[in-house]
Amino acid sequence: MSSEFLRTRCLIVFACLSILGGCEKTTAPSPEADQQANTSKVGWIDSDRLAGIEAEAGAWLTGGRDFEQSYHSPLDQINRDNVSQLGFAWQYEIDTEHGFEATPIVVDGVMYSSGPEGAVYVVDAGTGAEIWKFEPEVDREFMRKACCGVVNRGVAVWRGLVYVGSLDGYLYALNAADGTVAWKVDTITDRERGYTITGAPYMAKDLVIIGNAGAEFDARGYITAYDHATGEERWRFFIVPGDPKLGFEHPELELAAKTWDPDSLWEVGLGGTVWDAMAYDPELNLLYVGTGNATPYPRKLRSPKGGDNLFLASILAIDPDTGRMAWHYQTTPADNWDFTATMKMILADLEIDGETRQVIMQAPKNGFFYVLDRLTGELISAEPYVKVNWASHVDKKTGKPVETGQGEYFYEPKLVFPSPAGGHNWQPMAFNPATGLVYIPVIEAGSIWVMPDEPFKYQKGGLNFTSNYIFPMPGEWGLDGEAAKGLPPLAELTKGQPDTTLRGLVRAWDPVTQKLVWEVDTSGQWTGELFSTWNGGGLMSSAGGLIFQGRGTGEFVVMDAASGEQLHSIDAGTSMMAGPMTYTVEGEQYVAVMAGLGGAAGQQYFPGTAAHKYGNKGRIIAFKLGGGSVPKRPEVEHVSEEAPLPPVERRGTPEQWAAGAELYVRNCTKCHSSMDGRSSGIPDLKRMSAAGHRDFNDVMLKGTLASKGMGSYSGLLSADEIETIHAYLIDLAWQAHEQAAGQSRQPTAPHTPPTGNDP
Ligand code: CA
Repeated sequence: MSSEFLRTRCLIVFACLSILGGCEKTTAPSPEADQQANTSKVGWIDSDRLAGIEAEAGAWLTGGRDFEQSYHSPLDQINRDNVSQLGFAWQYEIDTEHGFEATPIVVDGVMYSSGPEGAVYVVDAGTGAEIWKFEPEVDREFMRKACCGVVNRGVAVWRGLVYVGSLDGYLYALNAADGTVAWKVDTITDRERGYTITGAPYMAKDLVIIGNAGAEFDARGYITAYDHATGEERWRFFIVPGDPKLGFEHPELELAAKTWDPDSLWEVGLGGTVWDAMAYDPELNLLYVGTGNATPYPRKLRSPKGGDNLFLASILAIDPDTGRMAWHYQTTPADNWDFTATMKMILADLEIDGETRQVIMQAPKNGFFYVLDRLTGELISAEPYVKVNWASHVDKKTGKPVETGQGEYFYEPKLVFPSPAGGHNWQPMAFNPATGLVYIPVIEAGSIWVMPDEPFKYQKGGLNFTSNYIFPMPGEWGLDGEAAKGLPPLAELTKGQPDTTLRGLVRAWDPVTQKLVWEVDTSGQWTGELFSTWNGGGLMSSAGGLIFQGRGTGEFVVMDAASGEQLHSIDAGTSMMAGPMTYTVEGEQYVAVMAGLGGAAGQQYFPGTAAHKYGNKGRIIAFKLGGGSVPKRPEVEHVSEEAPLPPVERRGTPEQWAAGAELYVRNCTKCHSSMDGRSSGIPDLKRMSAAGHRDFNDVMLKGTLASKGMGSYSGLLSADEIETIHAYLIDLAWQAHEQAAGQSRQPTAPHTPPTGNDP
């Protein structure tokens, strides 16, 4: 095994200091907040209004529009017959190059949405004119903890308040009328760990619920429920146990602990973060929560004696009145592959075997589409919606997947489908009750999992996920190049396994028959390359018989819900990945989307993306019938693709460069995976300028580029280690230059695994 992309590890057990810590309020809650909101009535959504949303076809009141999180609108002014006239209505420009993943909320003609760090944008939904904007002051230390882009997946609006989680873990309640802070609480139990918030808050009755991200670091996932008006904490539910010797915060953890080795790596936090989807059924009074993957990834390392490791990769149903769990369903027992079950969940009533069933549906990363009874958690059906080889099927009796052994990479590299990017990621899927179909932006990809040959060493607040994965691709990142070192030939790894060509698609899925109805390939020009998996953004469905999708190319595409036929495409000039939405103002239907590339696989601006052509400055773009063409930004001038002469002399020794390579892979490649000269949102460090080299220590230790997402490594890396990484990067730059000039030895740079998973 090549040590070049493997990491040094040794087992050090730290005392678990913080798992019992509570939430520290940073400002006193304001009991007047609800009263103030009551008088203003701006942004007024409550249980009654949400339950009666069928009377308000033109409203979009939650991230997924309704309490079912359907991402479907009953509006049909824009339909198959006239959609070709859809064009630009307005834009709201946002001064950031970070990506956008939120779907806006529109209530009473006002649009509320969010962006990087937990910024909130509130605009007139008919014109795009700004009403107010909120930009939280975020602790720069947290910028490096955003594994997969400095993003935010949305706000909640409730009874005159707008809720948002900031990247550094605060939950803000803002007055909907003017954006002033009504209250703010610190939701993080241990600020030294790798916690962030990138997910949206969800409402259950009059509670606001927020989770967190950081399972690739050392987070122990949990959600917390706060009183909507005061911010007072009502309950907290941890997803995985802490060290049983320290006791359990709530009874469910005692149950969960039975599925863990008593000698599990408790000090690492073990993951299970709730970084995206929740849903609330007001009739059943159940809050549904999708939980994340484990850290470290390899189960043999995390819980050596085995066990299912509850409640990782699960859907939980929780009674919001008590914070007690009603049921749990684990999609991936003993997760080994970053198979989060955090993906968006849709509530629906389906006719199954002659019976109306109240179901919850999810297409989690593990490749199976699940239909569960949402009252009881009973498995109704689960079938693969993408290629799956880690399990043969889901056993109806046990409700568990039956593993094939192909996912066991602890002793030898294995090709596993789906990849850690998942068969589906955070990008919203949509359900149209008229067609009965769920529309899913899917990823067809496998990846090769490799164990490091060095022992695991816990790094507090650092990346601790341990095992690596490689996407089989032809060319520079593929197994023909650096990554092949020490690995068996690709043909051997793929023998008897599905085709490894990377692709992205929209799939129309019948949740009753569990069958594919139609599909559209959204890979664009990138078939086989990593970006094929990320070109297709989140989906929105409408009663006009339409499916809407923004793409990395900058095309805003409208498809026929019945056939997938492309009916219209608008050149939006900005790469998109967020889910679109639709609403009316004064009776006129608009469609809107947050535009800007980022996230796990969108931090590199591949040629062919709008981000590469026009840059990646964000905006909200709204469309309407009879609209014009979308205004474009000036095209970006690209630097030469050739490796430039490094502005500093080579220094250090081959041993130091090798050590630097290991440090680099562990700490830097989660973002800086683009080492190939592409124009990128994340710089290619082989091309650092003289100023970049001069400021290297300040960037690393003082966080001088934190606003760009490059937070300080002070406390995580020593000055010596930073010099070791710097010397390695300089050597890499010289190697690239010499190779381009045709004078070099073969590069010995480590393979830098491209990112492709999630928070
Ligand atoms: Ca993950």
